[in-house]
Amino acid sequence: MSAIIEINHLKKSFGENEVLKDISTTVNKGQVLTIIGASGSGKSTFLRCINLLEKPTGGQILYKGENVLEKGYNLPKYRTHLGMVFQSFNLFANMDVLENCMTGQTTVLNRKPEEAKKIAIQNLKNVGMDQFISAKPAQLSGGQMQRVAIARALSMNPDVLLFDEPTSALDPEMIGEVLKTMQDLTKTGLTMVIVTHEMSFAKDVSDHVIFMDQGVIAEQGTAEEIFEHPKEKRTQEFLQRLR
Ligand code: ADP
Ligand code: MG
Repeated sequence: MSAIIEINHLKKSFGENEVLKDISTTVNKGQVLTIIGASGSGKSTFLRCINLLEKPTGGQILYKGENVLEKGYNLPKYRTHLGMVFQSFNLFANMDVLENCMTGQTTVLNRKPEEAKKIAIQNLKNVGMDQFISAKPAQLSGGQMQRVAIARALSMNPDVLLFDEPTSALDPEMIGEVLKTMQDLTKTGLTMVIVTHEMSFAKDVSDHVIFMDQGVIAEQGTAEEIFEHPKEKRTQEFLQRLR
């Protein structure tokens, strides 16, 4: 197993509020890491620190062994290695589906439009959205928008794809199609970090599960360890509440 991202003693405060308190874990290549925990426990902040949408107040983030928080590290480059899928899709409303999946490729990765288009269409095919290339986001359902957002992220060929509650904003009847898309992705060997409340999905796809509670990792382990034999009282109670 080789580590893509190693997180050592990560801390993040907003003013007096210490939201992440000494978080350490490893994201291994090709693995699916799932983060569960109650609302407010710091899951989104943790993801946002990984891709440096938030600046950690302490600790280390090693990407392929190099500390990305060190002065002089090429952060713009680092960010191109990570993709993010948000709860609220964050598609560009003024662009159609194809443009949404091309723009990062041409502006950030400097790909030629023809190449970017080919890659975008392939990824849209993979999520079942290639019939909609000319649609604007407003014409799509939530599930369709989220699948486009996934195709857009994949079109950047990230090393790691981060998901922050990708199905939480969806009507119940659309959750399945997005989970199915993500489940298919896990089989491609993509490295994924997923914050989710979908426990049966998490149980199915996770190689490693982190349970967060009040800014700390209360427990982490395999899907079986966390879901079948949780050791910590806090984990047991959290899982029980969802039943
Ligand atoms: P979760 O995703 O697990 O629900 P969050 O990471 O969103 O938790 O939030 C954890 C805590 O951090 C909350 O108390 C929240 O108010 C605080 N927080 C998150 N983002 C900010 C911010 N930008 N400024 C101040 N406080 C924040
Ligand atoms: Mg959150």
